[in-house]
Amino acid sequence: MTTNLIVGAGTELDHWNNARCLTHMPHIDLTRLVPDGVRAVIIAPHPDDEILGCGGVLQLLHAAGRSLLLMSITDGTASHPGSAQWTPERLRQVRPQESEEAVTRLGLSGLNWVRGGFEDTQVASSEDAVSDFIKQHLRPGDVVFATWREDGHSDHDAVGRASSRAAKAVGATLHEVPIWAWHWAHNDDPRVPWKRARKVALSPYAIARKRYAAQAFTSQLEHDPSTGLAVLPAPVLERLLQPFEVVFLQE
Ligand SMILES: [Zn+2]
Repeated sequence: MTTNLIVGAGTELDHWNNARCLTHMPHIDLTRLVPDGVRAVIIAPHPDDEILGCGGVLQLLHAAGRSLLLMSITDGTASHPGSAQWTPERLRQVRPQESEEAVTRLGLSGLNWVRGGFEDTQVASSEDAVSDFIKQHLRPGDVVFATWREDGHSDHDAVGRASSRAAKAVGATLHEVPIWAWHWAHNDDPRVPWKRARKVALSPYAIARKRYAAQAFTSQLEHDPSTGLAVLPAPVLERLLQPFEVVFLQE
């Protein structure tokens, strides 16, 4: 990718609250998307994407009794470049633990979970290996939710492409989930595939649980005195805690 789309404060929540593309977006019934007896697989590039992109989807599918598999591709060791406080070694330990805590907070303890341990920020350079890893764990008929291949973060994009390849090879269905797109896109943005976008409505209870789960990501939320930054400042997090989640249906 030549342009970094994830710069500055990004598109404000207010903009999305008034965006026609969202008010007019059709809803989808998740239990139709993942019928009874079919397994859902959630693929997260970094430990937190599973909650930020699919925290509601996970709860709804669990409540509907669907079998679930979570795949974490990296351990998120590159979230704090130059930080004295959050070294890659510390992040390698802490971020998967935060993810486990978050999933428990959703009420999903005992979830089937596989970890790839691929290098954070370098997924694109090992895309074939990532695709093979995903393929090994997929079964024909699975319904896969992965980050959108044009989400604007190189790892998210690479996971989207690798998942698509693996799903095709195995005979699984792939739906894509935008996460960073909410940062750089805007209402009716022509770069976004709105035609295949569907809203998954979340109940107040599901949103509250997702919010509680997201609070487990201390490393990402905390202000880091050694860099003066937080990875997920409050406005970024709020933008990801809307009363719905969006999936781009497989074409
Ligand atoms: Zn991510």
